[in-house]
Amino acid sequence: MARPRKRKDCSSAAAAWRERELLDKKLVDAGVVILRTTGCSHFHQGACSMCGYNIESSDDIKPEDIKKQFDTAVATLGDLQFLKVYTSGSFLDQREVPRDVANHILQHCKKMRWKLLFESRPEFVTDARLDEVKEIHEDLEIALGLESANDRVLAYSINKGFTAADYVRAAETIERHGAAIRTYVLLKPPFLTEAEAVKDAVATIRFAAKRSAAVSLNPVNVQRGTLVEKLWRNWAYRPPWLWSVLDVLKSTKGDCVRLICDPTGGGSERGAHNCGECDGVILDSIRAFSISQDVGKLGSPDCKCKETWKTIMDVEGFVSGGTVDLQRFFRPQRT
Ligand SMILES: [Zn+2]
Repeated sequence: MARPRKRKDCSSAAAAWRERELLDKKLVDAGVVILRTTGCSHFHQGACSMCGYNIESSDDIKPEDIKKQFDTAVATLGDLQFLKVYTSGSFLDQREVPRDVANHILQHCKKMRWKLLFESRPEFVTDARLDEVKEIHEDLEIALGLESANDRVLAYSINKGFTAADYVRAAETIERHGAAIRTYVLLKPPFLTEAEAVKDAVATIRFAAKRSAAVSLNPVNVQRGTLVEKLWRNWAYRPPWLWSVLDVLKSTKGDCVRLICDPTGGGSERGAHNCGECDGVILDSIRAFSISQDVGKLGSPDCKCKETWKTIMDVEGFVSGGTVDLQRFFRPQRT
């Protein structure tokens, strides 16, 4: 029997928490607020294959609800230097975050002297919109979810709905307005083998590094209601190995001003994971690296599963002609 769906509370944020973040080489107190909105514009074009964030959205949400969500959330966060505001889509999309609401958030950050980070799809990054935004608040970092610098991966594996050239145009617009850029890079979109995924993430980080104050490597986690989840249920997708995450971080740290990674769901079947025994140590080392930028913190414990990963890196494309979760055939299921 289907569980009755919990009614969404339109006036409270999906989540809000504090964390520490390196800003201008200093560890500062940062806040994260995830706002519920009417949803990402791209959701109606079929959505990205790995993104389940639309689950937090609702057509019932009104502009005043979003303001209330923001006010209530920031009141719980206390003193901050940096605030990250996410929606399920684009802060600069006025259908999702009406101008009046965006202005309210910008004015609050200005008043509190918080650096503000928000995310947007490239099509909403225009000179006109950034002029308006910067008139209210100057201290901005704008995040762009490039995911992959390969247009074939963007189109066929992710269904991202834009190209690498669109990212470049948006990044140049942000640069002209003197705001910092954070670029999100995906590790292991569907239909790529483990080895192809590592190569694609390395190439994408190098592509984005020169324009980005920070590059964030995001290993895919299997979110509900997504194409990735369907594939995963059919043993046709495995989230990336933590060995792959380490490999990508070690290969690209030298290219980036700041390279960060905090694998969502790390160590679980739905997130980036290894054998279960070495996951915790590696995840801790990835977090220690992200905060310190010291590549020496990236652990590489000896674990027998590294051999399995190496074999999969070598033979996956050859054996299956595509992506199958080979490892599930090798081992008993974890719960
Ligand atoms: Zn292991």
